[in-house]
Amino acid sequence: MRVIDVHLHLDIEDRNRKSVLFLNKPEYTKEKLLAEMKEAGVERGVFNTADSVGDGIESPAYPTPIRMYDALEYVKDTSSLRLMPGINPNSIPKNALRLTEEALKNGQIAGFKVLSGYTHFYPQDPIYHKFYNLAVKYDVPVMFHTGDLYDPEGITLAKYAHPLHLDEVAVKFRKMKIIIAHLGNPWVRDAAFVLSKNPNVYADLSGFFVDRVPKSAPAIASELQFAMEYVGEPHKFLYGTDWPLVRMKDYFGFMKKIVPSSFRKNVFYSNAKEMFNF
Ligand SMILES: [Zn+2]
Repeated sequence: MRVIDVHLHLDIEDRNRKSVLFLNKPEYTKEKLLAEMKEAGVERGVFNTADSVGDGIESPAYPTPIRMYDALEYVKDTSSLRLMPGINPNSIPKNALRLTEEALKNGQIAGFKVLSGYTHFYPQDPIYHKFYNLAVKYDVPVMFHTGDLYDPEGITLAKYAHPLHLDEVAVKFRKMKIIIAHLGNPWVRDAAFVLSKNPNVYADLSGFFVDRVPKSAPAIASELQFAMEYVGEPHKFLYGTDWPLVRMKDYFGFMKKIVPSSFRKNVFYSNAKEMFNF
């Protein structure tokens, strides 16, 4: 089966600044990512910069455009990877809009990532609207973190990460493609409703467990199956892992069994190919 993974992370932190993402994880360099993609038979991937994770709350400012170009520079020799830069609402430099528009015009970026819950802003907050307008203009999706939060420091707020907020974004920005990352997990049914209500809303299936397949796997599977049955449309779901939080082979093995056979081609490959212009 051909596979595209739409939810990846890469360690592109500054050399002189300690990485704040996934504190306990081993290196997640480009080399490691490509090796694991090859091992798991994943053809292409979309990674998002989590430049606001850990600093989203009143901490040092990470200027989004610089980090976006850092990330692009890091993968410039790698045609199998595309970038969705994260928007850090605490720190939007004056030239951010111009630079991101330039990158969109040149086809360098594949959309945006909004880290609701890590940052203390609702997805419908006007601070994001100029980026949403860009997403509409260039027909690229915006991916929103929803649900479970990785929070060793105790600084995230769950209320911002509920998928129900995306209904308002979907209605106000009817032409914007919205991806509910992690299908709202554990608010899967709420996410499924927002998904089925709005033609412009999609979901990725990433991050339902970290490390190994957990004991709760049957419960997770039944939630996922409920959502897919309830929504009933194979073009609404995209495969993703949240690597490096999980091994690609393990996650694929798990999801392959859960996604109905009539959905597989769409979910594992063609939806992403179309949405991200691979
Ligand atoms: Zn993620």
